[in-house]
Amino acid sequence: MGNVKDYKIATLGSHTALQILKGARDEGFETICICEKGSTRPYESYGVADQIIEVDSFADYFDIEQTLIDQNAIVIPHGSFVAYLGPQNVKKIKAMHYGTKGILEWESDRTKEKKWLLKAGITLPRLFKSPEDIDRPVIIKFHGAKGGKGYFLANTPEEFYQRYEEYKDFPGHEKFAIQEYIVGVPVYSHYFYSRLTGELEVMGFDKRYESNADSVGRIAAKDQVDVGIHTTYTIAGNVPLVLRESLLPLIFKMGEDVVRTSRDLEGANGGLYGPFCLEGIIDPELNYYVFEISARIVAGTNPYINGSPYAWLRYNEPMSTGRRIARDIKMAIETDKMEAILG
Ligand code: AMP
Ligand code: AMP
Repeated sequence: MGNVKDYKIATLGSHTALQILKGARDEGFETICICEKGSTRPYESYGVADQIIEVDSFADYFDIEQTLIDQNAIVIPHGSFVAYLGPQNVKKIKAMHYGTKGILEWESDRTKEKKWLLKAGITLPRLFKSPEDIDRPVIIKFHGAKGGKGYFLANTPEEFYQRYEEYKDFPGHEKFAIQEYIVGVPVYSHYFYSRLTGELEVMGFDKRYESNADSVGRIAAKDQVDVGIHTTYTIAGNVPLVLRESLLPLIFKMGEDVVRTSRDLEGANGGLYGPFCLEGIIDPELNYYVFEISARIVAGTNPYINGSPYAWLRYNEPMSTGRRIARDIKMAIETDKMEAILG
């Protein structure tokens, strides 16, 4: 039987690092936080890291990777890995890595992502092939847009071309998706699937707090038009949420269907496991339109470092998603099943 003392848990200091490192500590691991110079303060102040490694930029991760390998550290990926290293470089991580790397490719390519979700029977907003086809409100999303920056809305082809002009300098503006704009409330569903228990868990829900989408309603429609405000979705934070209880059976089913179909994806090495999130909009008929899947921990779990109402029901102890990951790793170590959690 392995021992948690023989391993360390490491991650990049941003996104969900606080709960990942705290959760690892709570499960008995020593922790390492890789910080960009000038960003160490929270990790020192909250006392979650046994060791802080400073780099000029997260993109320099590979310069310090050997230190992690020497210490038998398991790296926990989160949103900043794909954002700052890119999905191709994440694949090159040589240190022990929690989760299947092949899945990240499916979630970061909109075409592949759509194929996967449709196969799982998930309802998606309609996608338009060409701007000429726009016949209703749509949202235009540039590939590689970060944190909701670089989206715009249009109602007609003319409006599309007019707005598109303004994005000429936006990096990656040549590639974009045109999605039906769903009028409803945003709901992000947080899941955890363990290969060791074979069970899907619903960890909680959040909604995003986006600037300026969440502020335009604070001024009159006339002022919105007069000032010429364009809606943007830059993420500033997350708001906790509980869902109407009668929707829970659907939420469980969607999660289970997504996990099951992931096993057939090319390069997915046995499929999706660990934390993931379905991101979408619930309309007035209670249809849940999913526009995105994140195959890793999402920052919407940050309000629940002490556990969400759902995690409380199940665990009766504080269980963040970060801690749930550490517990999965601990179980794998103690039952000698590391191959079930490393990818
Ligand atoms: P950061 O390290 O904060 O720059 O975030 C890395 C990536 O995760 C970026 O693509 C962000 O858009 C995304 N992200 C960061 N924080 C949040 C959040 N609270 N909710 C949703 N996405 C986030
Ligand atoms: P994303 O970066 O894809 O998670 O989307 C950022 C925000 O854009 C979401 O939180 C929603 O507020 C909004 N959004 C994205 N796609 C749609 C859609 N198809 N219909 C309505 N709102 C959307």
